[in-house]
Amino acid sequence: MGILIKGKPVADKIKEKLKKEVAELKEKGITPKLAIIRVGDDPGDMAYERGAIKTMVSINIETDVRALSKNITQSDFINELKKVNNDKSIHGILILRPLPKQLDENIIKNVIAPEKDVDCFSPVNVAKVFEGDETGFPPCTPSAVMEILKYYDIPLKGKNTVVIGRSMIVGKPAAMLLLKEHATVTICHSRTIDLPQVASGAELLVVGIGRAKMVNSSHIKNGAIVIDVGINVGEDGKLCGDVDTDDCINKVSMITPVPGGVGSVTTSVLAKHVVKACKMQVGL
Ligand code: NDP
Repeated sequence: MGILIKGKPVADKIKEKLKKEVAELKEKGITPKLAIIRVGDDPGDMAYERGAIKTMVSINIETDVRALSKNITQSDFINELKKVNNDKSIHGILILRPLPKQLDENIIKNVIAPEKDVDCFSPVNVAKVFEGDETGFPPCTPSAVMEILKYYDIPLKGKNTVVIGRSMIVGKPAAMLLLKEHATVTICHSRTIDLPQVASGAELLVVGIGRAKMVNSSHIKNGAIVIDVGINVGEDGKLCGDVDTDDCINKVSMITPVPGGVGSVTTSVLAKHVVKACKMQVGL
């Protein structure tokens, strides 16, 4: 039977290290600060915002929530964003997405200051992920995947890895971060032919598709390590991942649970990015 590899110890370790770094910054008179820009009051956004604030408070990072009207115009939004870009007391900016339809993300992503863009919205940071340039900020979720793999000492060099999902926020950057660590990566998506056959060749399977429990034991190689990025509400009304954990547990060697896996590490990575942004901006 495989073991559940949980996110909490990973998040705790990241937070402990950050607390020390933030204390050292405070001694120098510097306090890292994250601005969260939220448009409207979507419950999912509000839940993520509460989680992010709780994590920042626990590390002594300041937060500044800019809650904007769901009807805000593009030009008013851009003016607000420019104010945050230019505010020297703010080191990181998180824009909760997707934005409402009247706001054009393709324009806005070019306005956010790349050095404050802690969740990889700016094309500058996207390019840095693809270039393997560590001065950038990969999206927090695939970074959380990498933190889990590192914490549990999972070697990646040459590892036969399949990523299912190719979104800009999960699949593609996860594939690039794994490639940077010398994994041999295949990316699958909705047009992949015979997904079970491709996935069951993987020693490491990373799944981010948004389909409750779609990945089952037919997709799993014996002894595989499975990282389930999915967050869905199952037929029973409970949170579940993209992987049917009960069906796979006897075949895998390790698997992340949902809830309690990747999602519980994401805000700690966000905090790590804020501290990194702060240090870079003050020249440390
Ligand atoms: P998207 O909908 O943007 O992308 C889904 C991807 O999965 C697409 O590339 C799509 O392929 C692929 N896909 C969909 N259906 C299938 C299928 N039947 N077979 C193979 N591939 C398929 O979702 P996100 O990337 O934003 O999110 C993915 C999951 O991760 C969701 O469950 C989401 O809730 C979760 N998530 C979790 C986070 C966390 O912190 N843990 C944060 C962000 C997301 P194609 O490109 O061909 O359409």
